[in-house]
Parts: sequence; structure tokens; C-alpha cells
Amino acid sequence: MTEVVIIGGGPGGYEAALVAAQLGAKVQLVSDDAMGGATVLTDCVPSKTLIATAESITTTSESGELGVKLAGVAATANQVSSDLLQINQRIKSLALAQSSDITARLSAENIKLVAGRARIAGAGVVQVGENELKFDVLLIATGARPRVMPEIKPDGELILDWQQLYDLTELPPKLIVIGSGVTGAEFASAYNALGSDVTLISSRDRVLPSEDPDAAAALEKVFARRGMKVINNARAASVVNTGSGVEVKLASGEVIVGTHALVAIGSLPNTDQLGLETIGVKTTATGHIEVDRVSRTSVRNVYAAGDCTGILPLASVAAMQGRIAMYHALGDAVSPLDLQTVSSNVFTDPEIASVGVTQRQIDSGEVTARTMSLSLAGNARAKMQGQTDGFVKLFSNPDSGVILGGVVVARNASELIYPISIAVEQRLTTDQLAHTFTVYPSLTGSIAEAARRLHRVNPGAEQ
Ligand SMILES: Cc1cc2nc3c(=O)[nH]c(=O)nc-3n(C[C@H](O)[C@H](O)[C@H](O)COP(=O)(O)OP(=O)(O)OC[C@H]3O[C@@H](n4cnc5c(N)ncnc54)[C@H](O)[C@@H]3O)c2cc1C
Repeated sequence: MTEVVIIGGGPGGYEAALVAAQLGAKVQLVSDDAMGGATVLTDCVPSKTLIATAESITTTSESGELGVKLAGVAATANQVSSDLLQINQRIKSLALAQSSDITARLSAENIKLVAGRARIAGAGVVQVGENELKFDVLLIATGARPRVMPEIKPDGELILDWQQLYDLTELPPKLIVIGSGVTGAEFASAYNALGSDVTLISSRDRVLPSEDPDAAAALEKVFARRGMKVINNARAASVVNTGSGVEVKLASGEVIVGTHALVAIGSLPNTDQLGLETIGVKTTATGHIEVDRVSRTSVRNVYAAGDCTGILPLASVAAMQGRIAMYHALGDAVSPLDLQTVSSNVFTDPEIASVGVTQRQIDSGEVTARTMSLSLAGNARAKMQGQTDGFVKLFSNPDSGVILGGVVVARNASELIYPISIAVEQRLTTDQLAHTFTVYPSLTGSIAEAARRLHRVNPGAEQ
């Protein structure tokens, strides 16, 4: 029986454990935190639970024009308030329940759960406290932690990282979010909906610099309409707790004053105290573990998955890397990781979902594609719902018509991206997508319509 040891109980680790057990290995899963890892306990699950509340507030407060009244008055943002203590209690109990479900599932599959901090002690041996765990196959899935800088350091009181936010019992009246990547933008969007006065500081010329530029521009417009202040091209140099609030000093010398600051300036891989050097596992300059597309590290029978590899920091990718590692290590059929087919979503309001090639690849000439973008303002269902901010964009191969990628900006873009993901994964053409029935009225109707228009557009005339 192959002895598999897995370090890390996040999706990279626990999904791999389930596959290894299914394939008949003896599995030991070591984690220094409850099962589910940062994904379930502090990052993905808590933030998306918070965002579910924020969504309800926004939908209610913007439903005045649909004829919704609150206590006899047309619904507006001023009439809907939030109870952060209750929201955070719900978030924590939901995260713990999710963790318990995962623990129960792993135990039911006879996976041995080992609590503690693991360190590689030598070839074939992992040390956890006094215990030595022997392995034939090792998977490292230790995740990442919030990045801090000496001048921008969370204190857990008024200056917080995203894992500390859930201890707040009252809504921060004036929240400054440092960092406009996915995490910063999501929390800025959510706290703005909950009722905080939010200032978002972006070091680039727009929020979400890695996302589709049209999507980011659409989101900035919505943020401005909802009263959020976005400061672009501004690098935060330091943040201090003044006792009564916070002061964020920008590189320009300007000082922004708030009651609380959220630091969202990226993550660092949990690889520094693992003993990787004892067996020669290679890391990159940023400390991430080097892996290939079947999750192999530089050392035979040692695999790595998830945020500690820095391939693409998503729970779905971590889980897939972990599963692939076990399929490969235990001799099952395996398809290497293909990042072109990964769909991802930014859970702002509206959401931004994307899959496949990007606008940046097309604009730079790296990929040749035809583009069709349709505003949701023309979609019957969106009009009925009072949802007019988003759009659907499709990219297709100019010769074959095969769909290469797409972007959806809409309230529920994370659900709407799926047909485009299927098209990209299965190499469907615009005609195949266009000829598939959609419900009338529906937002997916815009996806089919964009595909139809790609059939008609002459090369050179596309937008
Ligand atoms: C705020 C936020 C929101 C996010 N939202 C989403 C989202 O909506 N969708 C999405 O797909 N992704 C999301 N992500 C990304 C996602 O959370 C990560 O990609 C995912 O957590 C990676 O999983 P993992 O298994 O690599 O690591 P983790 O989930 O971090 O788990 C690693 C575990 O290993 C433990 N560990 C570390 N070192 C050791 C050791 N030496 N011994 C024992 N145990 C150890 C850690 O304590 C941790 O419990 C979000 C991230 C953040 C920060």
C-alpha cells in the first residue's frame, strides 16, 4: 500500500486526500489548523458569506425603482442598515460548520488526520512534533498568508488584514482599503454596501489591474455612483493607528484619514519553515514551490498544490492541482493542468467573471481573435431586474469560429460564465453556442446573441 502524507488541510490538501484514499493509498493529512484551511476558515468562505449579505443589502436598497417600499417609503440605500456583529457571528459559524463537514467526510474515507505543524525531516520523513510520518509520496499544500510590510502592518485593532475583519463587532464608519486587487476590491464593494464610507487606494491607474480593462472600468463607474472614493495611481507608504483612527500616508505625501484600514497587498507562500532544503525542493525567487503541470516538484515523489505554488491563487485550482498530483503519483489517468480553461470571478457588485484568453493577450497581438461585447442595458431580463451596468464579451478564433474566452460583468456573473467555460473547454464554435436554446427572458440570452453576432460580423468590422 502506498503511504501518502499530505501537509495542509485546505482544498489543495483535502481534495488530494480524498482522491488518494479512493485510489487505495494509506493517507495521513497533517494540518496546523482546522480542516478546510485558510480557504474555509479565513479567506474564501468567510468573504463570500459576507458578500452574500452585502448583495442582499444592495438588491434591496436599489429596488425602489422596481416599486419596493420599506415601511411605506421607496427603498433606498439610506433605509437599509446592517448588524456587523450578527453578520460576523453567522460567518464564523458557517465557516466552522463547513470545516466540520470536511472533517467528517475525510474521516469517513479512513484518512488519518494529524493535528500539528509539519516539517520535512529528510528523505521519506515528515516530522510533526514528536511523531515521524514515513511517506512514499508527499504532497505539500501549505497555502499562503497575508503579506505585510514594515510600514503597513496590521495591528488587529484598527489596522486589519482580511483574516482579522471578522472580529469587528461594529461597522467601521470610515474604512480605507489599501490595495485594489481582487481581495481589496471585493471587501471595498462589500463594506460600501454594508454602510461604511469606503476609500479604496490603488497603486495603478485603475482598480483590478489584472482583470479585463472594460470590466474594471464598468466597476469603477458603479463604485463612484455608490459613493465610494477610489484613489488611483497612489501608493500607500505607511499606515498608523492614531488611537482614535488611522492615517494612511501616500507616497505623494498626502494623508488619508479614516477610522479603520484594511491591508490587502497580496500574499506570501507558507514555504519558509517547511524544511524544503533538507530534500532539495526548488523554490522560485518569491518563495513559491516550483511545479510542473502534473504538480511534480524538483524532487521525485514530492508534489505541491495550491497557493504555495503560486500558479493561480484560486481554491478551484488548488483542488485540481492536488487531485492531479494524486492521479499522477498513484498511476491513474491524468490530464495536466490547463490554465486556459480556468474560470474565475471577482465577487464585487456587479461581479466580474472570466475564462480563456484575455483582452490583454488580444491587444498585445499574442492572440488573434474577434471580439463581441454586448451591454446588458439591451437585455430584456436585465431591464426587468433593473440591472443595467454589466456586459457580456466573447472572443473567438477568426478562422474556425471556436470560442477562445469571454468575460461577464453582471450581478451573478459567477453563474453566467459556465456556458462560456463549457464552450472554451469543449472547443465549441460561436455557431454551436448561438444555436443552443436559451430561456426567454434571460441574461444567458446575451451570451447567445453575442455568439450570433460573431457569425455575422465581417473581420475588421468587429468592436
Ligand atoms: C480574501 C480571499 C478570498 C478568496 N476568495 C476566493 C474565491 O472566492 N474563490 C476561489 O477560488 N479562491 C478564493 N481565494 C483564494 C483561495 O482562498 C486560495 O487559493 C486557497 O485558499 C488555496 O488553498 P490551499 O489549499 O493552497 O491553501 P489553504 O486553504 O491556505 O490551506 C493551507 C493549510 O495548510 C496549513 N499549513 C501551513 N503550513 C503548515 C505546516 N507546516 N504544517 C501543517 N499545516 C500547515 C495552513 O494553516 C492552512 O490551514 C480567496 C483568497 C482570499 C485571501
